[in-house]
Amino acid sequence: MHDLSNQVIGQKLATIRRNIYNAAIKAGRDPKDIRLVAVSKFHSADAIFSAIQHNQMIFGENRIQEAKQKFTSLLLENPSIHLHIIGPIQSNKIIDAVKIASVIETIDRPSMLVPLDKAIQKIGRAPKLFIQINTGKEPQKAGIFPEEADYFISLCYKQFGSLIQGVMGIPPVHDDPTSHFKQLVSIAKKYYLPEISIGMSHDYEIAIACGATFVRVGTAIFGNRPLYSIQNNTDKNA
Ligand SMILES: *Cc1c(COP(=O)(O)O)cnc(C)c1O
Repeated sequence: MHDLSNQVIGQKLATIRRNIYNAAIKAGRDPKDIRLVAVSKFHSADAIFSAIQHNQMIFGENRIQEAKQKFTSLLLENPSIHLHIIGPIQSNKIIDAVKIASVIETIDRPSMLVPLDKAIQKIGRAPKLFIQINTGKEPQKAGIFPEEADYFISLCYKQFGSLIQGVMGIPPVHDDPTSHFKQLVSIAKKYYLPEISIGMSHDYEIAIACGATFVRVGTAIFGNRPLYSIQNNTDKNA
């Protein structure tokens, strides 16, 4: 197994919370305005349960099938847990996403809007929605391009109104993330979207300096993922 012990997960969470606090203070921000999404993809329900025991309540998963398997009973047993979907959602998985997610961070194409609206009506439960923006314009990555934001965000507003709450982005691995984070923040501001989901294990402190309201941290909490997960784990067809 690749899971770290309960104690180590607790220590890692404590370190990250301290780093988030310090990064917020340094940036002149209220630490309470930054929430930690513990990205548990490829880690077991036991590892997730360890994090819960150390008071972690927000989790992120990027595959619906895996999220459903691990979180259906965890959510029933722990009603205060919130799950964020942070990976691309195929149309036939939208119903399942609506059933389990508090937030879907990956609204990334016009063709998912009507099926998503129908799923929300059918299930009678409405996750908050973030728009994924591909600031690096990487062909293998999901998300709208920045120049499509005007059109796409107004389309989203028409369909969902105030359910549209934020933006999410993943900068290209080899770029300095700062300009990408700033671009995402300025798009969020322009549309009065309060939530900004940016920053991962290696750059969450930079993201906080830029204005993150959610940081998505996996490896720095749960350890390395198994090798087979590394390829394409943030890509379109994951
Ligand atoms: C896996 C993943 C993360 C977490 O990445 P780490 O480098 O392990 O912190 C964050 N965001 C998305 C969209 C991911 O797929």
